[in-house]
Amino acid sequence: MTGLADVFGRVGLRPVEYTGGTLPAISPIDGTEIGRLHETPVESVQTVVERARQAFIKWREVPAPRRGELVRLWGEELRAAKVDIGYIISVEVGKIIEEGLGEVQEAIDMADLAVGQSRQLFGRTIASERPGHRIMEQYHPLGPVVIITAFNFPVAVFAWNAALALVCGDPVIFKPSDKATLSGLAVFRSLERAMARFGADAPEGLAQIVIGRRDQGVALVESHDVPLVSATGSTAMGRDIGTRVAARFGKRILELGGNNAMIVTPEADLDMAQRAILFGAVGTAGQRCTSLRRLIVHRSVKDQLLESVTAAYKSIKIGNPILPGTLMGPLIDENAFNMLDRAIARATGEGGTVLTGGDRVLTDHLPGGFYVSPCIIDMPRQTSGMREETFAPLLYVLTYDGPVDEAIELQNDVPQGLSSCIFSRNMLEVERFVSVSGSDCGMANVNIGPNGAEIGGAFGGEKETGGDRESGSDAWKQYMRRTTNTINFSTALPLAQGINFGS
Ligand code: NAD
Repeated sequence: MTGLADVFGRVGLRPVEYTGGTLPAISPIDGTEIGRLHETPVESVQTVVERARQAFIKWREVPAPRRGELVRLWGEELRAAKVDIGYIISVEVGKIIEEGLGEVQEAIDMADLAVGQSRQLFGRTIASERPGHRIMEQYHPLGPVVIITAFNFPVAVFAWNAALALVCGDPVIFKPSDKATLSGLAVFRSLERAMARFGADAPEGLAQIVIGRRDQGVALVESHDVPLVSATGSTAMGRDIGTRVAARFGKRILELGGNNAMIVTPEADLDMAQRAILFGAVGTAGQRCTSLRRLIVHRSVKDQLLESVTAAYKSIKIGNPILPGTLMGPLIDENAFNMLDRAIARATGEGGTVLTGGDRVLTDHLPGGFYVSPCIIDMPRQTSGMREETFAPLLYVLTYDGPVDEAIELQNDVPQGLSSCIFSRNMLEVERFVSVSGSDCGMANVNIGPNGAEIGGAFGGEKETGGDRESGSDAWKQYMRRTTNTINFSTALPLAQGINFGS
């Protein structure tokens, strides 16, 4: 990884920041240490929150379209740094360059969306039942927002939250994953540059970063001065954070694990399905919350589909993600590899048959990295192991014989509810899938895979995925508090519901 110091320098990271600390940054490409970051002491987390609270008092008074100007500048900074930040993501998280760049593009798209949103933070006017009265809703800034992110989207998820929070009038405190802190710092520096250009309207403490692990996260989550915690990560993390935030009546946005399925019916375009399976299950080495984990295929097309999918799997170029032509990089670390190994052993113990992959590869060239051949396992039924998320390129196959309802039932019969899709050209099947008795997931796609969402829609899932939404649509409302104002412009004081109170 020659030239990494230059890339760090160009995105605004100084050697003193990424050397000599207690938090190692390990590249999954070959296991080398590429930095040693300085953790924010847990005792100083409350000071960070207090600074954000002070910033809020000023920032909430800045008109929203002017706040949008800050995010517009941020979009410019992200554009200028796209190649370098994308490269850092690839080196630190192991995504192929194309996906590293795509992640920065997602942050840019989000900034653009938020700029437009800054002129549309509107409420409704509601007809009053009383003469000479008017009811209206307003959305006001909420306060400091804590953003805790997972390792696999260190840049985009920060942008999803920060771009909206900032236009909504909220300071942000960013706690990136301890496995992707350099990427987090790189995107944070781009926001700092935008703030410097924006000038004095951006108060000190408007955007802060807390570097660390679970403990720093817990300290932030427990602060009573943080009205909203937006946390992305595993279901175990979400269960802990959700409970802590609920105990103090805070608001939360939880974006947790998925167990995403694709249904392929007898009337599917099998070529399209095969390509979507490849990107869905193998892309990002299966380390997306929306990665394809379960393929539910009708028996009549199963053999044909699996023949082309397994052939395509065998042709996937696995290797160093920063080299052109590579389609699949490494797993994030040894733990991830062990988890995959255990899941495969459990699946075969539950009656599954490995159709391809599942082995550690490249141990001769890149012994410090955990590279695997993507795995497909044919399962006799939906077993307990399949109900858990394995964050790796492991695809289970289930077969169905009956109508599409049988496949939908299998798809919904897991604790998670993030993303789902159907491949079919039969409108009865498709409409069934997106209907009230169809997919129970936050996202239900037709003739595209479960992953790779655009930022315009609301992103998130049901059940153990957390139940919340972020990114586009009306997700902005969560970063604001709503007030309902009833205004009497008459000289009488009629009571609602016609109540006569002693007059
Ligand atoms: P993780 O749960 O290990 O960590 C996520 C973040 O939470 C990290 O910053 C970590 O330091 C912090 N953290 C962990 N426990 C905490 C606690 N008790 N209190 C406060 N902070 C805590 O997740 P990961 O391994 O980094 O990411 C993979 C997981 O994230 C997968 O389950 C994946 O599906 C999920 N994910 C979900 C989405 C989504 O939008 N639904 C997006 C990306 C990733």
